[in-house]
Amino acid sequence: MHRPLRLTIDRTALQHNWRWFKDRAGVPAGAAIKANGYGLGAREALMALHDAGCRTFFVSTYAEANALGGVPDDSELVVLHGPSGEDMEFALASSARPVLNSVAQVERWRQAAGGRPADAMIDTGMNRLGLRPDEAGALDGVTIDTLHSHLACADEDSAMNERQLAAFRDVAGRVQARRFSLANSAGVCLGRDYSFDLVRPGLGLYGGIPRHEAADELRQVARIAAQVVQRRVILKGESCGYGATFVADADTEAAIVNIGYADGYLRGFSSRGTAFAGEFALPVIGRVSMDLVALNCGSAPQLGDGDWVELDYDLPTASQASGLSQYELLTTLGARFERTWA
Ligand SMILES: *Cc1c(COP(=O)(O)O)cnc(C)c1O
Repeated sequence: MHRPLRLTIDRTALQHNWRWFKDRAGVPAGAAIKANGYGLGAREALMALHDAGCRTFFVSTYAEANALGGVPDDSELVVLHGPSGEDMEFALASSARPVLNSVAQVERWRQAAGGRPADAMIDTGMNRLGLRPDEAGALDGVTIDTLHSHLACADEDSAMNERQLAAFRDVAGRVQARRFSLANSAGVCLGRDYSFDLVRPGLGLYGGIPRHEAADELRQVARIAAQVVQRRVILKGESCGYGATFVADADTEAAIVNIGYADGYLRGFSSRGTAFAGEFALPVIGRVSMDLVALNCGSAPQLGDGDWVELDYDLPTASQASGLSQYELLTTLGARFERTWA
């Protein structure tokens, strides 16, 4: 069945981005493939990154580990949220390794897992998941593969980064583990002090720019295009779209295209987004609807029904235009796209 909107994912760019993080960090790089590979496809991302040399993959939950259907034999899958009581049966049967985030999870694992290694998360200031530094003693007697912490402000030049680094170094000096890991995508940009033994990029793999240091280095991975349903003229003084927020100050050529907020092209792009027909830039006019968006196509006289336009989905630019985070732009992409890994 023909689909009037396309999501094209650039496998080579994904692999290039992973290599950039590994080289920049100077240590092995894993990959966060949670939330279905940041919306692009966890299984395909896993295989592409594995081909590039990645051997450690992170998902959030055991449900995601289950949906992924395992990783290659030479690789490890890590479940960031750790095992809930309901997860334990699956967790014990699974080869995925949990991150233990609380004293309760540590005790649950200690009692049931018969000495099997786990990862653990130390909270160094974010107060999201993890043992407090003064609770790290609870890990005594549990075999820890990788001890993690997570940065709250790595995308900013915040004094909190150095505070968290110092707190993590302190805990790393007291807890036995095979490896230590602190940096997400933005953390890698902060410099090699943050690398430890393993880094955990996510966003940047998929073309997000976590910090300015990565701006000219990472390649766009996800591109979206939509087909024109109808070209029409909005006469001077007429409006276009819900709420009649756009009123034409002169006769205006409009292309109505097959994408809307149900596809993840959210209403933050109303009167703010841009699309391209070849080299012609076509501004979004009026509100984004559920299934449609209107573009001013006066600059593209040849554009007609059935032609394709590419929405500007360069993540930093689109984030600036829409007010959505680069993470949201990726993870909200909907189910109606024809998805192609190219
Ligand atoms: C999601 C996540 C990452 C990846 O973060 P990005 O900002 O997407 O690079 C790394 N570590 C943990 C603990 C995470 O939850």
